[in-house]
Amino acid sequence: MPVNDRATLATHPLRAFVSHLSILSEVFGYSQFRGPQQAIIEHVSAGGDALVLMPTGGGKSLCYQLPAIASHRAGRGAAVVISPLIALMHDQVGALHEAGVDAEFLNSTQNGEEAHAIEQRLLRGEIALLYAAPERVTTPRFLALLDSLHARGLLSLFAIDEVHCVSQWGHDFRPEYRALTVLHERFASVPRIALTATADAITRADIVERLQLEEARTFISSFDRPNIRYRIVEKSDSTAQLLRFIEREHPQEAGVVYCQSRRKVENIADVLAQAGIRALPYHAGLDAHVRQNNQNRFLREDGVVMVATIAFGMGIDKPDVRFVAHLDMPKNIEGYYQETGRAGRDGLAADAWMCYGLQDVVNQRRMIDESPAADEFKAVLRGKLDALLGLAEASDCRRVRLLAYFGQDSAPCGNCDNCLEPPAMWDASKPAQMLLSTIYRIDRQSGMRFGAGHLMDILRGKATDKITQHGHRSLSTFGLGAEFSEAQLRGVLRQLLAMGAVRVDADAFNTLALTDQSRAVLRGDVVVQLRQSTAKPPRSIGAGSPPKNKSTGTPLTPIALSEDALARFNDLKAWRAEVAREHNLPAYVIFHDATLASIANRAPQSIEDLQGISGMGVKKLEAYASEVLRVVRASG
Ligand code: ADP
Ligand code: ZN
Repeated sequence: MPVNDRATLATHPLRAFVSHLSILSEVFGYSQFRGPQQAIIEHVSAGGDALVLMPTGGGKSLCYQLPAIASHRAGRGAAVVISPLIALMHDQVGALHEAGVDAEFLNSTQNGEEAHAIEQRLLRGEIALLYAAPERVTTPRFLALLDSLHARGLLSLFAIDEVHCVSQWGHDFRPEYRALTVLHERFASVPRIALTATADAITRADIVERLQLEEARTFISSFDRPNIRYRIVEKSDSTAQLLRFIEREHPQEAGVVYCQSRRKVENIADVLAQAGIRALPYHAGLDAHVRQNNQNRFLREDGVVMVATIAFGMGIDKPDVRFVAHLDMPKNIEGYYQETGRAGRDGLAADAWMCYGLQDVVNQRRMIDESPAADEFKAVLRGKLDALLGLAEASDCRRVRLLAYFGQDSAPCGNCDNCLEPPAMWDASKPAQMLLSTIYRIDRQSGMRFGAGHLMDILRGKATDKITQHGHRSLSTFGLGAEFSEAQLRGVLRQLLAMGAVRVDADAFNTLALTDQSRAVLRGDVVVQLRQSTAKPPRSIGAGSPPKNKSTGTPLTPIALSEDALARFNDLKAWRAEVAREHNLPAYVIFHDATLASIANRAPQSIEDLQGISGMGVKKLEAYASEVLRVVRASG
């Protein structure tokens, strides 16, 4: 669909710009567009299709909300926002109501009468944004509704959120997304904007193909999240390591802990709770009410730690999540980036902390090998896992690698573990050769294969029953690696797995086998470099001087306030909590911490003093100014 055919939608560019800017300040209380927002908004408002790749917290929602509001004001009806997150629609729409925008959702939580009422309002052109899940949007009834709206000229835009869900290469594949091609086929003149916070090249191409977005303009923002400090530590006792991390660095703060299995989620949530941390479990096996309730508590209460499987987190827009911890390794870099990206949406300092070990590598490899997928598919999955292993084993800047994966060049960041504390390296070629030749010798001797533990026992010269039973004392490598600790040998094996010089045989109890690449290591053609194990976290990490935002220079530390201002800030927070409870919304939907901090600093005496504070739109000013002034006055 050429853009010109939609030109009737376009207004004069300058006029459009002025009105977009005025909506930005009036509705959202912001004075400037961020990054490519303005270009995206203008493109979409002029009838173009767009594919938007912007990191979490980058400000994607505004890219469709603002054109939707502008169209609605011009009498062109509603934008339909397709979002997979029924459990969050209430809060998303509630946030728009707070800003004075006519938004609604249609989902399974409503009865027929309620849905009917919303449909009628849509047909009268009273709604600016309608949220619905993909499975709903593609039903005959919904499509008939869209037909009626379209016939009346009341269908302004389709916004497809979390669009990576359309791709099997994305980490959240949802088959329902595939059916969304119907929108383009049936309503070719309605512009579409598709958005995601993560998509590597292969996923991106898949999105374009699946949703026929070939004509769409792609807007790619920098994927960097400078306020997030990436750290990957070696697993020893992961539960104790996690406890230490939270207690030392993030007491009383909100965070997410990702685990692979439901059982582990429950177990870790228990351990944290027993240690006095407000931890709650979340996984797909929990009763829907419990799940929703835990999610609500995480969003609405302060300092809750959510222990979760990857079922949790998409669309969670809580701005003050101070850390994301991984106790198990994700499947690929997209998953890692997406999950860690949930930290620090407010732009203040946050931690992405992962604890990983040999077993993670073995497990992930095995899951791929055991999956019933086709071989080419498995090859892609292995490639993606290898990229993540490369990141985990890296001794250079993590961020440089992460961004390179998304096709972005950068310089060492100064805000990851490797930059802050460059790891010492050692040449591990010798023990690597010992391990490989042990595998080789056993195979030649008996045609048998063994797991990591047994191989390490042989090298370290342990007289276990298993060794005696299989006569492995007679191997020439028995006891040859006694000088190496078990942790060191584990590191060597991990590195060999990451290099593909050894493979896990899933069909045979996770035993280890040689590969084509093993020979190069055995011959000494490639050097196996290993970071020296750090049992304890180096002192400087987690303390250190606070990082600064490279582009704006603003410190990424939690907000600094004078004593008086702090008292006002706390009183404002208490007031906000009451309002949030009354409205059944998360507190940050009423005002962000940053907005309350500006108010506290300014100590406003009049409504004029409140104008121009970031996050204070006209509707909020009307609704809350007198209360805010009262709280500030009472605070003395
Ligand atoms: P995303 O969906 O990309 O993760 P959001 O749309 O939730 O991000 O935006 C992240 C935060 O940034 C929100 O709190 C939003 O209000 C804020 N924001 C977005 N655009 C601007 C802007 N132009 N100026 C100031 N704040 C903005
Ligand atoms: Zn770095």
